[in-house]
Amino acid sequence: MPSEAEIRKIVFGFSDFKVKPKRLYLRTRRAGRSSPAPPACLDQSSLRVTSGSISTSIMASHIVGYPRMGPKRELKFALESFWDGKSSAEDLKKVAADLRLSIWKQMADAGIKYIPGNTFSYYDQVLDTTAMVGAVPPRYGWNGGEIGFDVYFSMARGNASVPAMEMTKWFDTNYHYIVPELGPDVKFSYASHKAVEEYKEAKAHGVDTVPVLIGPVSYLLLSKPAKGVEKSFPLLSLLGKILPIYKEVVTELKAAGASWIQFDEPMLVMDLDSHQLQAFTEAYSTLESTFSGVKVLVETYFADVLPEAYKTLISLKGVSGYGFDLVRGTKTLDLVKGEFPSGKYLFAGVVDGRNIWANDLAASVTILKALEGIAGKEKLVVSTSCSLLHTAVDLANETKLDSEIKSWLAFAAQKVVEVNALAEALSGQKDEGFFSANSAAQASRKSSTRVTNEAVQKAAAGLKDSEHRRATNVSARLDAQQKKLNLPVLPTTTIGSFPQTIELRKVRREYKANKISDDEYVKAIKQEINKVVKLQEDLDIDVLVHGEPERNDMVEYFGEQLSGFAFTVNGWVQSYGSRCVKPPIIYGDVSRPKPMTVFWSSIAQSMTARPMKGMLTGPVTILNWSFVRNDQPRYVTCYQIALAIKKEVEDLEKAGINIIQIDEAALREGLPLRKSEHSFYLKWAVHSFRITNCGVQETTQIHTHMCYSHFNDIIHSIIDMDADVITIENSRSDEKLLSVFREGVKYGAGIGPGVYDIHSPRIPSTEEIADRIKKMLAVLETNILWVNPDCGLKTRKYPEVKPALKNMVAAAKQLRQELASAK
Ligand SMILES: [Zn+2]
Repeated sequence: MPSEAEIRKIVFGFSDFKVKPKRLYLRTRRAGRSSPAPPACLDQSSLRVTSGSISTSIMASHIVGYPRMGPKRELKFALESFWDGKSSAEDLKKVAADLRLSIWKQMADAGIKYIPGNTFSYYDQVLDTTAMVGAVPPRYGWNGGEIGFDVYFSMARGNASVPAMEMTKWFDTNYHYIVPELGPDVKFSYASHKAVEEYKEAKAHGVDTVPVLIGPVSYLLLSKPAKGVEKSFPLLSLLGKILPIYKEVVTELKAAGASWIQFDEPMLVMDLDSHQLQAFTEAYSTLESTFSGVKVLVETYFADVLPEAYKTLISLKGVSGYGFDLVRGTKTLDLVKGEFPSGKYLFAGVVDGRNIWANDLAASVTILKALEGIAGKEKLVVSTSCSLLHTAVDLANETKLDSEIKSWLAFAAQKVVEVNALAEALSGQKDEGFFSANSAAQASRKSSTRVTNEAVQKAAAGLKDSEHRRATNVSARLDAQQKKLNLPVLPTTTIGSFPQTIELRKVRREYKANKISDDEYVKAIKQEINKVVKLQEDLDIDVLVHGEPERNDMVEYFGEQLSGFAFTVNGWVQSYGSRCVKPPIIYGDVSRPKPMTVFWSSIAQSMTARPMKGMLTGPVTILNWSFVRNDQPRYVTCYQIALAIKKEVEDLEKAGINIIQIDEAALREGLPLRKSEHSFYLKWAVHSFRITNCGVQETTQIHTHMCYSHFNDIIHSIIDMDADVITIENSRSDEKLLSVFREGVKYGAGIGPGVYDIHSPRIPSTEEIADRIKKMLAVLETNILWVNPDCGLKTRKYPEVKPALKNMVAAAKQLRQELASAK
């Protein structure tokens, strides 16, 4: 009998694919009905049946997109090593190619018919599209030709002389994309052949993929006017210019043998006007002739498609299939049931790509059966609700979750299996064992005592109709606080975290693994805090932070100490570039068994006479950056977290911490995509924030921090949060946020728009920072302005942080002098 490695070599064509035998079994079982276990003897011809082409009697299955980082974040480490000059471009490309291959093979083996291609990215799929159409902003010095790593990573991360392009949230996810900058003078050209190269690469390995492109209309609508271009510049006016590039790409993909191409047009779920909808019609009419000989899927996700958009979508020329998010888009289901064009493929996204919960297979079968009557068995394709980019990679790597919780979950690899299991079930080949295990897991989640805590349920239920406001208004509070704190004008501070060194990570890792004692750990962390405190004193920063050396992640750190949360070892999700987050899983009612940060904050305060900020993550951000339970409304979970944070705030105050920052980095990203749903969300989100600090004295200063600048539309909600000081990202978006104050919004609380970009290793000069502060002073009162970086510094290195903060403090002092002499 051949060894497992030999079997794998035969089955997959390679043997170094690290799969546990159980999973190999699972995949083989899923893919081949007649051979439930790997047969003792295999030859090439019999394998074709089990792992390659799927018999036509099985309903087709499709995956919208797949995580690219790797089950153990292999891409992250390869990228960072390359950026640090520790490895070559060839090394990076090798890691990337291995990852792509393992993903393609995994899906092929699971029996997926339509396997996505070109969903891999070295940084971001929107930036890939920018490279594809050659829309490189002139400041990056690109001179034509195929875009290489130099130009690509300069756009993503900036370089010694030019800052990075702006980054913003991808719809309502925690993924960030690089915003294309376009103007009337842009000259599109086919400048990155990545899509076709990856298609050919997969094909060479025997996998026929569906290349995924961001559709032309969504791409334009996700762009912004370039520097120097009128803000009102109609981006859609570039449609005629960009479509020839798409034609070239499609032509090349067809020539390479692609039989399907997927156009992601997620903008179709947004509130669109008739002009925008018309752009879709125009674009696909123009592309129609190029589509001959290839089937085109237009994929939508993240919400319902509204009736007008639906009408437009199903009338698009040259399109063979439509993909819908049927998890978030339950209204779409009614539209499809009402009208669906005959002869077209319906890609039904029933497996949630945004969460980690196992699919309720029986419920999905019911939906699919109804759709089968509409699109027909041949044309219905089981799919994911969106790209699996937004979920964790593989539950098989979770060694620390107990089996009960694990049975409730499915990560990307398991969702692929679920999609195929559903397709099989619809084809009359239901895997009874798999389905009954699934329904048992659904039932156990509903009845588990670990999920429900009646006291917490009761406390949260009473909150809905209350207000929770501090007793005095913000200007009175600021006066009282200034008397106590005695800060200079333009006080300087940082957002919270300081660089996380290799040594620091090692200490935390060893402590977690019980390799060092409590005492050793506390000593090491104390030393680090002391180093950070001394550094800030040397730099003459006014309000200090302890640097958060004890924290792995701003949400995970709290989740680990709250009840109702579960943690993964490898449940990473890409946030931007090489950065990943490991969202906690909120599976039950949330409470705080004991103080979470008081110990470290008190130690830090004892090291300095300057005010030390207590640092907390706010309830909305904890909610938005976790995988949230789907068995109760989000606001109920949020109120539960708010009550837990409230206790922490009050304990910090009792411990003598006079400034407490409650980050709501992710408040805005939780905004529903539809405007009609904004006010309800903002109401409970802002209320949750107020719950946390309504109980403190007026002399206790409450800060909050937000990691974005698209601010204008929610400014009144931000004011309604009633924080004393707010720090916000600003420098990377051309001071967009300042425009709201130019437009006359009255803002009485303290405000610190970031004076430099921490997402880039670039060190800003004193003049540049002083310039930014002057721009702020032009629209904001001197006595409310704070000076701080855009965000926390944990992703940076000390050789960048020290000079940058030194320049920041110098700029603040320079401005203080100028203000004093102007008096
Ligand atoms: Zn931030």
